[in-house]
Amino acid sequence: MTHHLNIFMSGKNLGLNGLKCVLNIKLRGFHYPFYSYGSCLFFSAPQVILDVEQLPRHSARTQCPFCRQYITTDVSTKAGSAAYIVCLISILFCCIAGCCVIPFCMDRCKDVVHKCPKCRSHIKTCKKL
Ligand SMILES: [Zn+2]
Repeated sequence: MTHHLNIFMSGKNLGLNGLKCVLNIKLRGFHYPFYSYGSCLFFSAPQVILDVEQLPRHSARTQCPFCRQYITTDVSTKAGSAAYIVCLISILFCCIAGCCVIPFCMDRCKDVVHKCPKCRSHIKTCKKL
């Protein structure tokens, strides 16, 4: 008589979707999710974006094209052309005076400026338009 030992994955597909996020550490605006599988612990590091043209509208890890250091960009917002245009349109359509102030309060209409925290160089501006 032979004995068989069968090991089954307990109903779940492997792959990142099947992994349970056990810990989510937030550090300097980034989420570092930790996953457990058995006795192993995985953690996925935030992606380093090497092409500054691909920088998102929030702080991201990249290589500074000026000082060549790996940095997390400092972001700030400023009212960009989109905000001014929305303001202009609301004036043209004779909205109530308060309307033209609203675009300046909306981050979505603002340009996002990425700067290097090390050398203070201006890396990229993400324009709304
Ligand atoms: Zn730099």
